[in-house]
Formats: sequence, C-alpha cells, structure tokens
Amino acid sequence: MSKVVFVDTSRCTACRGCQVACKEWHELPANDTRQTGSHQNPPDLNPYNYKVVRFSEHLDGDTVRWYFFPDQCRHCEEPPCKMEADEHVKGAVVRDGKTGAVIFTPKSKKLSAAAFEKVRKFCPYNVPRRNPDTGAMVKCSMCNERVVRGMPPACVKVCPTGTMNFGERTDMLALAKKRLQELKAKHPKARLVDPDSVNVIYLLIDEPARYYEYAAVPEGGPLGRQQFLAWLFSPLKKSVDTVARG
Ligand code: SF4
Ligand code: SF4
Ligand code: SF4
Repeated sequence: MSKVVFVDTSRCTACRGCQVACKEWHELPANDTRQTGSHQNPPDLNPYNYKVVRFSEHLDGDTVRWYFFPDQCRHCEEPPCKMEADEHVKGAVVRDGKTGAVIFTPKSKKLSAAAFEKVRKFCPYNVPRRNPDTGAMVKCSMCNERVVRGMPPACVKVCPTGTMNFGERTDMLALAKKRLQELKAKHPKARLVDPDSVNVIYLLIDEPARYYEYAAVPEGGPLGRQQFLAWLFSPLKKSVDTVARG
C-alpha cells in the first residue's frame, strides 16, 4: 500500500518552512526570483524549487480571503508522466511500488525537447520541470530516500501547523475524511482533491480554481478532467490512451 502526504490547507499559515526544507534537503541552489506583488515567491515551480507555497487573494464583498496551497508533485497512482515518458525513454520515470513515489531518473536527460514537452503536458498538475544545466527532468521525489529509511519527507517534518501529514494510505485517508467532515459545517464547499488517484491529497475549503489553476485536474489538457479520471479508473487504460493520442 502506498504512502500518502495529506495536506490540510485549512491549517497552512504560508510560513514557507516546507519550501525551504525541501531546498535544504535536496541541496538546491538559490535562484533568481522577483517580487510580483504577492506573498508567493518564487512565482512558480522551477528546477530549483520542487515545492512552492502558492498564495491567492480574493475579495468577497467586504471580506478579504487568503488561500495558501503548498504545491508539489501528487505522486499519481497511475502517473501520466510515466506513461508518456515510457513512449520515449524507458526508465526516465519510475514508480516505487512500495512507497508510491514517482521519480524522475537521470535517464530523463535522454528525452528530446519535444518529448519533454509531451511529458510536461500529460501531467494534469503542471509539475515537471527541466534542469537547464543537466537536462534532467526534476520535481518532488516524495523524499523517497528518507521514506524508505522510515523518515517522513523533509517538508512534512518541519511543518509546524499540522498542515503536512504523512503515513500509510489507509490512515491518511481516514484522517483526511475526518478533517473534511469537521470543516464541512463551516465551509460547505470543502473537498478532498482527486483522493483516489493521487498520493498527495489536498483538503481545500473552496473551489480548487480559487487556489490555483492546476490545484485539481483541469477540464482542458491532453486528456481533460473527465477523460483523465475515467482513464485512471478504467481497466482498459491503454485503449483510452490510444484514443487520447488520436
Ligand atoms: S510549513 Fe506548513 S504551515 Fe508552513 S507553509 Fe508549509 S504547509 Fe504551510
Ligand atoms: S503529478 Fe504530474 S509529475 Fe507528479 S506523478 Fe502525477 S503526472 Fe507525474
Ligand atoms: S516530499 Fe520532499 S521533495 Fe517533495 S516537496 Fe516535500 S521535501 Fe520536497
């Protein structure tokens, strides 16, 4: 059974401890960034930030609402990035059957620019990036090297608010459903995002689009939301894949 990161965004204060811990653990260098008028910085995921705490602000009548979304790879149960990468370079993307971590390997350097673009577009959450120096595809690895040694991911370890949780899939799903029930009374639009198809499960208190364009599987994209979800749950995945490719 896979491991799951459960992200209860209702508890997030946007302290960005998780973002910094990710950079430190993976020894990612500082990168040029810019202030865009938002608390969010850097503005997007990039080859040196596998995690970004997204920030969005909304005015509802007289009330200002802030939404925080610690964005990272969802470690899909049936990862579309792997499905597409396998068509070009076998082994560029692998999935650890014990933990559920989806990992980009050094073989990803062999992907052509066009192939990388296809892999990137097949990710419904807009996660893959390419390191311009090495040519390797990069993203969150679920800190698999820690997880296989019994430690939680670095971002989970440092989170001071209970937003980031980690454990067995059954336990995390139970916790997620419990928190959802607690929040529903005050926030009727609260929901878990794609819980059956991913291993990084977000709890939101409002529509996903109010957090981030790719917080949930969008309607557009190579597969589209309905087709993507149908594909994930279909025993005939490969035939649907063939249709999607035209
Ligand atoms: S460390 Fe926790 S509270 Fe801070 S930004 Fe990350 S998820 Fe939110
Ligand atoms: S979120 Fe994207 S990059 Fe991560 S496993 Fe799913 S398809 Fe791959
Ligand atoms: S699980 Fe590890 S690699 Fe992924 S965002 Fe958290 S610290 Fe970064």
